[in-house]
Amino acid sequence: MATTCLSCALTHGTKDTIGGVVTQSSNFQIRQDYSVPISGFMILATKRHIKSIDEFTQEERLEFIELLYNTRQKMKIVLGIETIYLIQEEDAAHFHLWLFPRHPWMEKLGQKLKSVKPIMEWAQQNLQTSENREEVIRAVEKLKESFKAIMP
Ligand SMILES: [Zn+2]
Repeated sequence: MATTCLSCALTHGTKDTIGGVVTQSSNFQIRQDYSVPISGFMILATKRHIKSIDEFTQEERLEFIELLYNTRQKMKIVLGIETIYLIQEEDAAHFHLWLFPRHPWMEKLGQKLKSVKPIMEWAQQNLQTSENREEVIRAVEKLKESFKAIMP
């Protein structure tokens, strides 16, 4: 565990996640993105401080796809999110995959990968409200509930 790493701190509970951990497996955690207040913006992070999918053990590889599948499916069923973008930057210190949701309000900010940065900036500037924070936490709660059925 790297002491200055945000992902390590969130994974090991020395820093609180937004709304609490959605679910976790032996090697991974699902949580709301820590800094961008977009509801349903989920992060799939390794518990180990590694950078790349090419460092995954066989157990991690199997667990990863199962957890990714379940999370994405629940985002659709429980939150009604029809489209997401999967993004993972290997130049980040700690492996985390973005499950970035497309919401109708994002249309005005563009499409596809090039729209993600403006959307995140817009969210930082316009969605830091208590009303939106409640919505973000409601989405976390709904996902948590639906995971309890399969990963108690
Ligand atoms: Zn770390």
